[in-house]
Amino acid sequence: MSIPAEAQLRQRLAELARSYRFSMAREVAATIAHQINSPLGAVLTNVETLQALLQGPAPDLAELRAIAADIQSDSHRAAGVVRHLLNLLERSKVELEVIDLSSPVRDAVDFYATLAASTPLHVSSSIAPEPLPVKGNAVLLQHVMINLLANAMEAMSGLPRDQRRLEIATARVENSADVLVADTGPGIPSDKLDEVFMPFFSTKEQAMGLGLSIVQSIVEAHDGKVWAENRRGGGAAFRITLPLAQG
Ligand code: ADP
Repeated sequence: MSIPAEAQLRQRLAELARSYRFSMAREVAATIAHQINSPLGAVLTNVETLQALLQGPAPDLAELRAIAADIQSDSHRAAGVVRHLLNLLERSKVELEVIDLSSPVRDAVDFYATLAASTPLHVSSSIAPEPLPVKGNAVLLQHVMINLLANAMEAMSGLPRDQRRLEIATARVENSADVLVADTGPGIPSDKLDEVFMPFFSTKEQAMGLGLSIVQSIVEAHDGKVWAENRRGGGAAFRITLPLAQG
């Protein structure tokens, strides 16, 4: 490759990396803003109710206590979202190391559960009982999971709540550590199963279509593979397989 061509490629890669980071930050910020707004809205409504009750001649103490308890738990919920984010950022300096693949999966599921506390849905997670040592970066692997979980939740957003089911599993299969994230959404048209990983492919109105291409880049940087399937009973499944660390 000639020097100008290489310089051009480097510049394009740098631009791509910048837009990846921008889109991740934007998506995380939008999710956080949305999820903090919900407990804050509940706190505000409860405070307004408290104020109205306190205007009355003989406020019912039991009712006041119940409202105060609600305010406390919603405030904890909002604080939990912030705490999880800070934990995630603090750990972002970690380099490659041997980690148990189930641990970033579990962290991302917990993180998402905090964010999604206002959206009850059925989650079944089956985490491998034995450690799944892989050489990797826990924060990047968490990003992979958060992207897959966000997509699964979005895919199911049109369904009645009792039909939204999220399945997460990790397992050791021969010399690999495997992860499954499956949902009960509409699935992916069979001719788009590969295309969904292309940068800027999106069927959503206000999305950049970078999530799955980031997922694929991170998984491939860990010498792994990621692919999408449709489930027999309906819904999409994303599978990741990473080589187990030697020794
Ligand atoms: P974005 O979410 O910004 O559109 P992604 O790269 O994460 O970008 O996803 C690309 C496209 O893949 C989505 O717009 C959607 O059409 C499809 N997709 C991803 N995950 C799912 C899923 N769980 N079920 C159905 N379609 C999906």
